[in-house]
Amino acid sequence: MAKLIDGKAISQAIRDEVRDEIAASGIKATLAVVLVGDDPASAVYVRNKKLACEYCGIRSVSYELPADTTEEKLLSLIDELNNDPEINGILVQLPVPDGIDEDKVIETISPMKDVDGFSRASVGALSIGAEGFVSCTPAGIIELLKRSDIEIDGKNCVVIGRSNIVGKPAAMLLLRENGTVTIAHSHTKDLAEVAKKADILVVAIGKPEFITADYVKEGAAVIDVGIHRLDPEKNGGKKLCGDVKFDEVEPVAGAITPVPGGVGPMTIAMLMKNTVAAYKMQH
Ligand code: NAD
Repeated sequence: MAKLIDGKAISQAIRDEVRDEIAASGIKATLAVVLVGDDPASAVYVRNKKLACEYCGIRSVSYELPADTTEEKLLSLIDELNNDPEINGILVQLPVPDGIDEDKVIETISPMKDVDGFSRASVGALSIGAEGFVSCTPAGIIELLKRSDIEIDGKNCVVIGRSNIVGKPAAMLLLRENGTVTIAHSHTKDLAEVAKKADILVVAIGKPEFITADYVKEGAAVIDVGIHRLDPEKNGGKKLCGDVKFDEVEPVAGAITPVPGGVGPMTIAMLMKNTVAAYKMQH
C-alpha cells in the first residue's frame, strides 16, 4: 500500500508558516488579483486565493472586470499596478477571454511582481538557476516531495506533459534538485516503458485516469497534477479525478498524491509564499 502524500496537510503547514512569518516580521504584503469575465471555475480559484491571503495576513485587492474588457484596458490596469508601490504581487487569473492576448498580459506584468512565475524573465531565471519566481504548481510538487521525505537527488524522474505552466517547469525544478529527468509527451514512443523507469513520476497530461498500473514501477512516487470534474451521479458520488487511475496505481506505488487533496491545494499555498518573497525582493 502506498504512502498517501497529503497535500491538504502540507499546504496548511505552508500557509501557517507564511502567516507566522508575517505576524512575526510585520511584513505588509499586498496581492492584486485580476479576474476578467465570468468563468465560474476562475471565480472559484480567485475566491480561494483571496481567502488564503486573508488567512495568512496578506492584503488582497481584487479587480473583477467584465468579459468585454479590451486588451488595452487590461494592460493599462497592469501598468498601473506595476507602478503602485503598495502592490507587491500581481496575479491575472488565466485563461483571459478571447480577444485578449494572454502572452501580452503575462509579459506586461513586472518581473518583480510576477508571483505566478509565467513570464519569460521568470522562466528564464528558472532555466539558468538564477533567483526568480517559480510558478506555483510545479513549486508545490517539489514541496510535496521534500516534505514527504522523498529524495529527488540522483533519482529517475519522468514528467509526462510539457506544458509551460506545469510539465516544463516541473522538469526544470527536478533537475535543479539533481534528479535525472526525462520529459515525455504526446509524441513519446512506448510511454509505459518510459514511465516505468521512474522513481518519481509526475503526471500532467490533462486526460482523466489515463495512467494505469502498467505505467508505474513498483514503489515509485506518483504525483498526479490532473484535475477533472466528474458527474457524481454517474461516478458513485465522486466529484473529481486526476490523470492517474488512483485505485489501480495506489497498490503498486510507494507514495501517491490523491485527487482531490494532493497537488491542488499546494498551488495557492505557494502563491502565498511567492507574494511574501515579492515583498521582500522589493524591500
Ligand atoms: P496541457 O493540456 O497544457 O498539457 C498537457 C501535456 O500532456 C502536453 O504537453 C501533451 O504533450 C501531454 N500529453 C497529452 N496527451 C498525452 C498522451 N497521450 N501521452 C503523453 N503525453 C500527453 O495541460 P496542463 O496545463 O499542463 O495541465 C495538465 C493537467 O493538470 C490538467 O488536468 C490540469 O487541469 C491540471 N492542472 C492542475 C493544477 C493544480 O493542481 N493546481 C494546475 C495546472 C494544471
